[in-house]
Amino acid sequence: MKRKEFLKNSAALGLGFSVLSHTAFGMGTTASNPYSFVQLQQSPLKYGLDGLNGAIDKQIMDLHYNKHAAGYLKKLSGFLAKNEIPGTDLFSLVQGDLEADFLRNNLGGHFNHEIFWRSMTPRITSVGMELMQKIEEDFGSWEKMLEAFSTAAATVFGSGWAWLILEASTGKLKIVQSANQNNPLMKGESNFGYPLVGIDVWEHAYYLQYQNRRKDYIQAFAGIVDWDFADTMYHKILNWKS
Ligand code: MN
Repeated sequence: MKRKEFLKNSAALGLGFSVLSHTAFGMGTTASNPYSFVQLQQSPLKYGLDGLNGAIDKQIMDLHYNKHAAGYLKKLSGFLAKNEIPGTDLFSLVQGDLEADFLRNNLGGHFNHEIFWRSMTPRITSVGMELMQKIEEDFGSWEKMLEAFSTAAATVFGSGWAWLILEASTGKLKIVQSANQNNPLMKGESNFGYPLVGIDVWEHAYYLQYQNRRKDYIQAFAGIVDWDFADTMYHKILNWKS
């Protein structure tokens, strides 16, 4: 895609979205959007509980996936049912008015973890040429992007996340943080944009294995990032409006 076209498209990203019916990615049963894989259920871990080369151990993954993340989903499902809100389009919901903290926290909790599980893999992966060029354009180099990501993850105060996003207003890749279970797609976040990958830096994500050494966890995470997923997300987001 030419730069001019990209800017035109990225400007449109922040406006209303039309529903595309194509199923190129085949992951959702509802409207196709870049995050159609986020449904009102937990996606199975493609690498199992013990498949991340020791970067995150089985005990953490078991508690994280089966207790913490499952808990967000259960509370989210209960809230939606009680308030008669359909749970079929969580992508629209996450960008909507989340006045109730309970909804914000549990929708964010579910949404974020569904991205997080996909952000990791034991496989060796890499981004394609277009995303690599974009990273070099927006960060200066691959290494600088990684450094910014690690620094952001290390400096989240308390519980939260660090993300590589495609910022809606500028069309640029950025590294951002979000507090608690907020997501860059939520209203009020300072850099509204589309996550490509994210790291959970809540203590429940690493403490049993790394104790207070969050930087060691971040370093281990950097070795298992699924860059194929990031690349897929990048193209899904760009293609979504075209
Ligand atoms: Mn978590």
